[in-house]
Formats: sequence, C-alpha cells, structure tokens
Amino acid sequence: MPRSSNDLLKEFLSERSTPCPSCGYDLRNLTGSSCPECGQRLQLSVTLVYHNLPAYVVGLVSIGMSLGYSAIASGFILFASLNGRLRNPSGAFVVCIVLTLLISIALLVVWIRISHWLRRQSPFRRWTLATACVALPIMDMALLIAIGPR
Ligand SMILES: [Zn+2]
Repeated sequence: MPRSSNDLLKEFLSERSTPCPSCGYDLRNLTGSSCPECGQRLQLSVTLVYHNLPAYVVGLVSIGMSLGYSAIASGFILFASLNGRLRNPSGAFVVCIVLTLLISIALLVVWIRISHWLRRQSPFRRWTLATACVALPIMDMALLIAIGPR
C-alpha cells in the first residue's frame, strides 16, 4: 500500500533537522503535518536546485523597459499634443512609438506564454532570445535620438 504524503513527510523529518520554511523552528520528529511553532501546514515536495530563470527575467525586464518607454513617450506625445505644446510632432516618430508600444505589448504576452517552453531550451537558445529582448530598449533609445522631437 502506498504511503501517504503525510507519512512520507514524517519519515523524512524523523531523520533530519530541518527548519520550518516559515518560522525556522526545527521540525525534527514532527508528528503532524503542521509546524508546532507557527501552525503553518507543511508538505514534502520536489524542488529545483537551480531555476532557469535569469535569461527569462532579463528578457522580461527588457521587454518591460521597452513597453514602459513607449508608453511614457506615447503619453507625452498625447499630452503635449492636447496642450498645444507639440505643434509639429514627427509623423514617423509618432508611428514608431505607437508601433513600439503595440509590439512591446505583444512581445510581453508572448514572452510570458513561452516561459515554460523557454526554460526547457538550451542555455544558448535561452540567452540568444534574452539578448534579442535586450536590443529592444536600445533600439527605442536609438529611435528617440534618430527621429525624436527636437
Ligand atoms: Zn513554523
């Protein structure tokens, strides 16, 4: 008969001094499934030694920077145009900013949706995609310098 997860937890803790993840209380010889000190429920689980998250986070932050930049620039253009302070906004710049905003939103959605797939890829492929994302805010700045308002 298979042992319950509660039995496995008790067996695991019967041989080891393990601190409660919540309060640090030593759970050795635990008799129930909750920490006697803080009352938090406990379970035995499998966890990763190393999460393949750095490349994902670099990509996420880069896309977020591009999204933030284009959102702020779009807001500025809209606000300045409504107040009459931006009389002749460059049409190409406005189109590029709006396109950047839409592309950033789409990329953010895609990046979040492929997170599990990305973590299964080789480090080379993960970092290649993350590096491509880093290029986004750099291209945004180049765009601002090249055709932004003077
Ligand atoms: Zn505790």
